[in-house]
Amino acid sequence: MYNEKMYKLGSNRSVIRDLFEYGKKLAAEKGEENVYDFSLGNPNVPAPEEVRQSLEKLISFPDSTVIHGYTSAQGDFTVRKTISDYINERYSAGMTPDLIYMTAGAAASLSITLSALKEDNDEFIVFAPFFPEYGVFIGNTGAKTVVIGPGENMSLNLTEFESKITENTKGIIINSPNNPSGVVYTETQIKALCAVLESKSKKYGHPIFVICDEPYREIVYDGITVPYLMNYYKDTIVCYSYSKSLSLPGERIGYIAVNPECTDAENVYYAVCGAGRSLGYVCAPSLFQRVVADCIRCKGDIDAYKRNRDLLCNALEDYGYDFVKPEGAFYLFVKALEPDAKAFSDRAKKLGLLLVPSDSFGVKGYVRISYCVSYDMIKRSLPLFKTLAESYAE
Ligand code: PLP
Repeated sequence: MYNEKMYKLGSNRSVIRDLFEYGKKLAAEKGEENVYDFSLGNPNVPAPEEVRQSLEKLISFPDSTVIHGYTSAQGDFTVRKTISDYINERYSAGMTPDLIYMTAGAAASLSITLSALKEDNDEFIVFAPFFPEYGVFIGNTGAKTVVIGPGENMSLNLTEFESKITENTKGIIINSPNNPSGVVYTETQIKALCAVLESKSKKYGHPIFVICDEPYREIVYDGITVPYLMNYYKDTIVCYSYSKSLSLPGERIGYIAVNPECTDAENVYYAVCGAGRSLGYVCAPSLFQRVVADCIRCKGDIDAYKRNRDLLCNALEDYGYDFVKPEGAFYLFVKALEPDAKAFSDRAKKLGLLLVPSDSFGVKGYVRISYCVSYDMIKRSLPLFKTLAESYAE
């Protein structure tokens, strides 16, 4: 009567969503002030003022059929031109509007790109820890997901990576700054990764694509730069999103950019357009296509996230927790104080601390703390993190 695979996906909520729903129930019972919800990656920093200004300007436009009407399937040309010019200004990538496809956020960008590339027997590689939806998006194309365990300090494990590439490897997904670890892969690691890809592409006689999932590119601290993969490896496709950088997650807006240097770039782009069409993703939200073009140089208040990171990291370090200090995104990936991350998360839950157990990120024994919450909530939660640590010392 219905698709069993889809039923399973729909009826089994993600662990993150489960915790979030539990938090809402708990807040209704115990009061908002007694729940410390670190489950979701929903930015608490407001969208930049320019977003409001752009919206006001757009909705005052006399002909509303322009503003609310369909754009080209791949997105409005002027918007794509603004984005490609900006990519060239920042990364000298030789981008053109005809290689940009506007999407409803990174989730759509990834689903379209994977579907555009997938052929029979294909495999896609992901690096743990990873965004749990990768398995869902890859699974939906019918391809196999191959997981690489984490390297030292949550870096790329290149030895395992090299050993797991096969002739069926169609592509890999890279996410840096990373959700859930906050790690930014270094240029040295990226160069080493590209060297492996080049030699394996040559060996198997076909390109192995790098799909860069980049919702957190702009959210970095301490002057860190995030290598732009197109500058290092030709067969690169960028899946960008404004959900986090402009705090617009509910507006569903992002893009796919195919590297002009990519093998058969034009045809890969046509495959992207075809996948967008077949998945029903043509014409990303037209109002917000224009807003992001208007706000191309804007950023949210990254300093607010940095303050949160520093408050949390300093306190948790004092209490004896073990973690890699994040250089980007707004997540802290902390080692659980017992091997079973779910049991640790359950114990934290009893104190009102909602921390996501790591198993669905492809790593055991950690929890993810989303610190895109108010500074005040973090401050009030610190005694509970201390109590939690002490409960294991007893
Ligand atoms: N990729 C990663 C790593 C994410 O963390 C998220 C959202 O949290 C997404 C993709 C999906 O982002 P979007 O809201 O743009 O679809």
